[in-house]
Amino acid sequence: MLHHKHLIDIDEYSVEEITEILDTARSFKEVNDRTIKKLPTLRGRTVINLFLEPSTRTRTSFEIAGKRMSADVINFSASSSSTKKGETLADTGETLNAMNADLIVVRSKQEGAPRLLARHVDAHIVNGGDGKHQHPTQALLDAFTIRERLGHLEGLRIGIVGDIAHSRVVGSLVPLLVKMGAKPIVIGPPTLMPSEPGWWGCDWSYTLDDVLPELDVVYMLRIQMERLDGAPLPSLREYTMLYGIDTARLAAMKPEAIIMHPGPINRGVELSAEAADSERAVILDQVNAGVAVRMSVMYLLLGGDNSGLAS
Ligand code: ASP
Repeated sequence: MLHHKHLIDIDEYSVEEITEILDTARSFKEVNDRTIKKLPTLRGRTVINLFLEPSTRTRTSFEIAGKRMSADVINFSASSSSTKKGETLADTGETLNAMNADLIVVRSKQEGAPRLLARHVDAHIVNGGDGKHQHPTQALLDAFTIRERLGHLEGLRIGIVGDIAHSRVVGSLVPLLVKMGAKPIVIGPPTLMPSEPGWWGCDWSYTLDDVLPELDVVYMLRIQMERLDGAPLPSLREYTMLYGIDTARLAAMKPEAIIMHPGPINRGVELSAEAADSERAVILDQVNAGVAVRMSVMYLLLGGDNSGLAS
């Protein structure tokens, strides 16, 4: 059982709780591989997906995850919700609360929106990505995928490459990896690095080629154009030359190293088509893991434990 009502910041979760989520997700992954994928686990529970920023993978996989456990899942997008008519997030939250939602997944361009919502509702809140702050279920599904592919997290050298400064994926992934004993290193151009890249307690580098041959995992990020706010961006061509994975860099990687990406990919920028479609790329495994991990998170937050899942 988790000792939290919400999943907002991964930093608040212990190694034991993260391990429990990943282990429980393993059981759900087996369910997802069956022909009949439905469990009665969350029958009668209501899950609301409140997505105030665009999303393909996260929203869909929360919806599938809820439905696979028989929850009633309702989707609100920015265009269909009254936030567009000027309603505050707190008022939207109180409205959903009055309808007795059990769990609300919220995505917002505002950092801190899930925490604010949690103050106004009785429901469990899951952060589906807030601004450039955190994206905890992404970090969990990434950890799950690495464990499935490489067997463990401890001691692995994991390079996270690209727009470190504006990525919420990094904000959850680095603390999770550090906690679980991996050795992440963030890599990117100075203009896309935070002012203190070492503050998470991990290594950092401005040069990919120096560290590429030592990496077990090469985790590529998309440049967060929507969050650059006029910040200096190196030319895309130069960026790709220095930080993109192409044929030559594929050859420079360790033979067993894998390539990851949270999606959406900008083909030809962070990954060449050859790299994105190579045997090393586990990008669709990440998507697949997303459903199992989100089932696990919702199940554990809503009070389940790992013991009743075998059948
Ligand atoms: N899908 C991820 C996110 O929502 C990564 C990205 O958009 O680049 O943060």
